[in-house]
Amino acid sequence: MSTVADVPSTHEPLDGRTLAVEDPATEATIAHVARGGAAEVDRAVAAARSAARTMRDTAPLERGRALRRLATEVEAAAEDLARLESLDTGKPLSLARGEIAGCVGYLDYYAGAAGTLQGDTIPVGPGTLAYTVPEPVGVSAHIVPWNAPLSMLCRSVAPAFAAGNTAVVKPAEQTPLTALRFAGLVEAAGFPAGAYEVVTGLGAEAGHALAAHPGIGSLTFTGSVATGRTVLRTAAEHITPVVTELGGKSPQIVFADADLDDVARQVVTGFTANSGQYCDAGSRLLVDRAVADDLVERIRARAGALTLGVGTDDPDLGPMVSAEHRRRVTDYVDLGRAEGADAPTPPQAVPAVGHFVAPTVFTGVTPTMRIAREEIFGPVLAVLGFGTEDEALELADATDYGLGVGIHTADIDRALRVADRVDAGYVMINDYFAGGPAVPFGGTKLSGTGRERGLVALESYLTRKTVVVRRSAPWT
Ligand code: NAD
Repeated sequence: MSTVADVPSTHEPLDGRTLAVEDPATEATIAHVARGGAAEVDRAVAAARSAARTMRDTAPLERGRALRRLATEVEAAAEDLARLESLDTGKPLSLARGEIAGCVGYLDYYAGAAGTLQGDTIPVGPGTLAYTVPEPVGVSAHIVPWNAPLSMLCRSVAPAFAAGNTAVVKPAEQTPLTALRFAGLVEAAGFPAGAYEVVTGLGAEAGHALAAHPGIGSLTFTGSVATGRTVLRTAAEHITPVVTELGGKSPQIVFADADLDDVARQVVTGFTANSGQYCDAGSRLLVDRAVADDLVERIRARAGALTLGVGTDDPDLGPMVSAEHRRRVTDYVDLGRAEGADAPTPPQAVPAVGHFVAPTVFTGVTPTMRIAREEIFGPVLAVLGFGTEDEALELADATDYGLGVGIHTADIDRALRVADRVDAGYVMINDYFAGGPAVPFGGTKLSGTGRERGLVALESYLTRKTVVVRRSAPWT
């Protein structure tokens, strides 16, 4: 098993300041990491810039081979990485194992994609040759959240490497350990020194300094809407292109002809997986009133049977990531009751130590309630009934977010019609959380801009140079 002592601190902080890292299940301090700021970001960007030329000049197929070696390194270290992630975030070990397998998937997929980069030739007429060349942006910057730390990191660093860039990563202050551990694997895979730099620290210090840095060529920000706005303003100073992957309030829409037992299983996974701390958590249930009571009963029975515990003991659900976040989630539960919605007290005993919240299912929710509109990012489900397909669509669109949508029905025509009409970036029919590294993911409205995963994500780490040439005779 990995111990925290195995995690190297990539660089010592220049002024010796550190941050404590907590195990959210036991509240014990498990590590100290550098509290980096502007000086550490300068150092990291300088190192990444000096490696950028080597990455750019490495043939695409060779970059692909390096990514494949990195996938092999991550696979070999998978159990250690999963345990470290579980310890740092509190998430159940099985879930952490799944996320690390997902990291291998990203690295493998973009290993293959590296060789697919192409430009265009444009027929503008006799005597003129016009073509475009995909070029790396140089240093790509990545600001990462705490909910799926290494998975979110690999999701954006893998295409950035495939496109020929270096990467500077600012992990979340709550969960920096796997980003640090990953550095050794990148080195072992043979990437040049400086290709992958990590600056640990607080968002307002290290994160701000990275977003503000004139030496970065792109910024991928994954996190909350509030921070996303700040980061966009900061990056505007140097006109740095930004991909924003933000929050959600994703509905699962259930029609009366769906298999209710299967749907109950999917809805419970949708709002409780990772204790509800996924951006595309299915945190709203929109259900045909004809089957609503039946479905809610099945959901409450399943959710009530889930176990809470220390992540490395592999329970069904781990804790919230921090005391602050637990408070935010329980404040929403209190607010829901104050707004007039109804949630029975969950049957689970919540451990006294650790930041645990038991799954909570609200009925009697109206579309204007804050628990129906705002991202809670915890295991809390808001149930709303509908009578018609139009009403379901109206409810689905009644938030400022547009990330995931689940549609459950035996009628594929209806499912595809709803998929066409709903305002969201990612629609899953009869299989919530379906997808993979090849499948583009992202949102509309406040859920963000840009797309991660798939070939389309490579574009966020490239510029397209156009070359127009006037050719000589025979046309002149
Ligand atoms: P957050 O916005 O608080 O923090 C995200 C990152 O931004 C952290 O690394 C943090 O240190 C940094 N940061 C904070 N202030 C900053 C500043 N002023 N300048 C630069 N960086 C700063 O988000 P969080 O609480 O860590 O993550 C949860 C949120 O992330 C949820 O809203 C969730 O939906 C979203 N999320 C979205 C996706 C997606 O793909 N759409 C994936 C995962 C998480």
